[in-house]
Amino acid sequence: MDYFPIFLRLAGEPVLVVGGGEVAARKIDLLLRTGAKVTVVAPELLASLADKARIGEIEYIAGEFRPELLDGKRVAIAATDKHAINAWVAHQAERRNIPVNVVDDRELSRFIVPAIVDRSPVVVAVASSGDAPVLTRRLREKLESFLPSRLGALAKLAGSLRTAVKGRIENAGARRRFWENFFDGEIASDVLAGRADAESADTRARFDEALQRAGGEPIAPGEVVLVGAGPGDPGLLTIRALRALQNADVVLYDRLVSEEIVDLARRDAERLYVGKAAGSAHVSQEQINSLLVRLAKQGKRVCRLKGGDPFIFGRGGEELEALAAEGIRFEVVPGITAAAGCAAYAGIPLTHRDHAQALTFVTGHCKGETDKVDWELLARPGQTSVFYMGLGHLENIAAKLQEHGVPADRAAAVIEEGTRAQQRVVTGTLADLADKVREAAIQSPALLIVGEVTRLHDTLRWFNAAAAQRPSLIGAWSLAGNTEGRLSA
Ligand code: SAH
Repeated sequence: MDYFPIFLRLAGEPVLVVGGGEVAARKIDLLLRTGAKVTVVAPELLASLADKARIGEIEYIAGEFRPELLDGKRVAIAATDKHAINAWVAHQAERRNIPVNVVDDRELSRFIVPAIVDRSPVVVAVASSGDAPVLTRRLREKLESFLPSRLGALAKLAGSLRTAVKGRIENAGARRRFWENFFDGEIASDVLAGRADAESADTRARFDEALQRAGGEPIAPGEVVLVGAGPGDPGLLTIRALRALQNADVVLYDRLVSEEIVDLARRDAERLYVGKAAGSAHVSQEQINSLLVRLAKQGKRVCRLKGGDPFIFGRGGEELEALAAEGIRFEVVPGITAAAGCAAYAGIPLTHRDHAQALTFVTGHCKGETDKVDWELLARPGQTSVFYMGLGHLENIAAKLQEHGVPADRAAAVIEEGTRAQQRVVTGTLADLADKVREAAIQSPALLIVGEVTRLHDTLRWFNAAAAQRPSLIGAWSLAGNTEGRLSA
């Protein structure tokens, strides 16, 4: 992050604007909305600004900028059309440690002014660190059309009732739940739709009634939502998963869950990493189970985040058994499993009328277990087999399949970090894939797919990992419709 985003309270505070034209006028309008005490210095003023000066809305100093005008100011804005003057203002402000913005010149600016959507008291600010003003503006337009116009009225109503709610519901978690229900509920939707006036006695009475009801309820018991986070790309999260993440008080996540996804949790949610990591102690399955039980018993809403789908090689079943034994409420949100995600992003259809009529997900993990695999089944013609956790056993798997009659030239592929910006795909045959994978230094997580369908990767590949460095999920949504992530060549 290049800039620290803040909202600055300027009511009654002195601000200097250098320049008296259109550009200055726009900034002055914004400043006046915050109640700032604006002084403008310029040889001459736009008519609309001159009017403001006449009625005392702003103070006008006719003439050129002088450094001592900066003294005592909270903020300075240079908006002249002369680079030399702007640079001088910036320099003098910097010397005095006064934050300065030079309009349309980020080099000279200490702070930049974001594009805003104003639903006061709710204000959404968007900035691109000065890199892409047009993009910022488009995002602003999207937000403008997306945010209800009466959002401000709703926020004001909530603000005026905060003290009452605090008095009635002591427990902070219960209070948050009350507000969540409120914003999802009838009163809020009536206010947003214009069916109810936020400031009317009637609305207030409805609110009080809801509050009385909520205050009488005992603290809600905790619960666990077992959530599949998909293979990595945050765009593959389900809407339910996103909701569970944002409602959770605590998020427990594994190694396979990407950072961008964990970042989508509420800012004040506790995040607990329970995966394996070099250097830190491994959290055992029993410890995770009892942690889940303990947190839920404390009344917390727990989001248990797992890579892919929690019921596919994810030990989700074991964790739920532990919860069921203790009578704890739970829910399961399925996720896109690695096989589906990696295959899609590698352009490998897992079934195909010409090549594969059956599909099996197999664990390739640990030697003993590999022996439990039904190799006869996997060796049948028209079969696609997807091996999870098979990277370290690639040679063994290839050998076993051949022992059971699969030809050495059966096509296969390994996908490393599927669906992520670092995705790599190595294709080959049972005979040569292990060597190719070693050569490419493929690392975990990686998925092995065996079957003739993997040959289709050459013609159906579409995902350009390098181009997929998405800044965020929101970015991906807002830009829906563009073809980012596609191969241009
Ligand atoms: N529950 C998960 C699987 C957990 S087992 C799911 O449904 O996807 C872990 C194995 O999944 C890894 O060893 C690897 O084989 C595979 N895997 C998970 N995410 C992956 C990814 N992004 N790219 C490649 N393989 C992945």
